[in-house]
Amino acid sequence: MALIVQKFGGTSVGNPERIRNVARRVLETQNAGHSVVVVVSAMSGVTDGLIKLAKEVSPHPTEREMDVLLATGEQTTIALTAMAINAMGGKAVSLTGAQAGIITSGVHTKAKIANLEPHEVRRFLDGGFACIVAGFQGQTEEGFITTLGRGGSDLTAIAIAAAVQADLCEIYTDVDGVYTCDPRIVPDARKIDVIAYDELLEMASSGSKVMQSRSVEFAKKFRVPFEVRSSFNSNRGTIVKEESIGLENVVVRGISIERRQAKVTITRVPDNPGTASRIFTALAAAHVIIDVIVQNVSVSGSTDISFTLGADELEKLGPVIDRVAAEIGAGEVIKKGGIAKLSVVGIGMRSHSGVAATLFECLGNGGVNIQMISTSEIKIAVIIDEDLIEHAARLAHAAFGLEKSS
Ligand code: ADP
Ligand code: ASP
Ligand code: MG
Repeated sequence: MALIVQKFGGTSVGNPERIRNVARRVLETQNAGHSVVVVVSAMSGVTDGLIKLAKEVSPHPTEREMDVLLATGEQTTIALTAMAINAMGGKAVSLTGAQAGIITSGVHTKAKIANLEPHEVRRFLDGGFACIVAGFQGQTEEGFITTLGRGGSDLTAIAIAAAVQADLCEIYTDVDGVYTCDPRIVPDARKIDVIAYDELLEMASSGSKVMQSRSVEFAKKFRVPFEVRSSFNSNRGTIVKEESIGLENVVVRGISIERRQAKVTITRVPDNPGTASRIFTALAAAHVIIDVIVQNVSVSGSTDISFTLGADELEKLGPVIDRVAAEIGAGEVIKKGGIAKLSVVGIGMRSHSGVAATLFECLGNGGVNIQMISTSEIKIAVIIDEDLIEHAARLAHAAFGLEKSS
């Protein structure tokens, strides 16, 4: 008998029939003699709908109230899922994040899990119940409702699997697993059988929203292996685990894309110690999140600095960057939306050369101009025009031989 955590995302609980489908799967697992903790998301579209509703009553709702509102989405699903299981003759109880023992920091809308004491989960499991836990939510020490960032139900599932020392953690979603690229963009993408935490972490944090990146970080830290698989069939999915020797043989594991980025260039920045610090300290103080930063080699005492950020951050950035540029005596500030990032990821890059050459060659031959380049040990990312991102993803996918047919 095993203890299994199963997480079902929004599409998998998107309507009553799908919730009954989840209930059947949970019952099958229980009938096979296992204990089950089920983590569910809000039904698909519900969280977005709640955000829209909030904007209709207030242009800038407080994050505290957003959390109270958004947590209702998952609360609906836990009740419906428990009801469906009970109606099929099973034994299930619903638990909110707080009831499941999830204590978080007080940073509303992106709270961090500070502690998880799953006493109630254990008590109900011992009583033969399936525990249906609301994903994405927790509470502060003081008892205020918090949420864990978009896609946060993944984090709930991984954290509970770690806390109850589950034998198995399964993330059920609307695709068969983690693919070499988002199958909606590259139809020929291939399902990956095994991927290392670091690879999925790079992919998730550079736009592959199949798993929330913080959940992968958590899984790596607490060594929770998990499987990403489909809730609509019984195919084996993708195992996500620590890296092992065989995994390094593959140079490029996958490709991610991130749309809706913007690029800012500050020209003629005086080339003095402390100038970059003044720019980025001011941006950090305004809570602007920066991604890729590039500084040119200085010519005659000044240089250009460019960086990228999410297009949504531009509004916050505008007044701050104009002020700092004037203070440091720089030239122009050029802000440009409509760009995107393509990242090529694989732990095999540590020990293989030529990945950058292949990437740049295929993009060049395909007429894609590279505006910025950034690398890490296991990733090469390029900034390009957003209009060309799907074309570029397909070119790179083929150049690295990632298609199903190869
Ligand atoms: P859930 O609601 O189950 O959490 P998500 O919508 O968050 O599901 O994640 C699943 C989606 O992630 C897929 O439908 C797919 O379009 C997208 N996706 C992006 N990149 C990848 C990838 N590399 N492999 C698989 N799916 C991906
Ligand atoms: N419902 C939340 C969201 O849409 C959390 C999740 O689905 O994981 O982001
Ligand atoms: Mg998700």
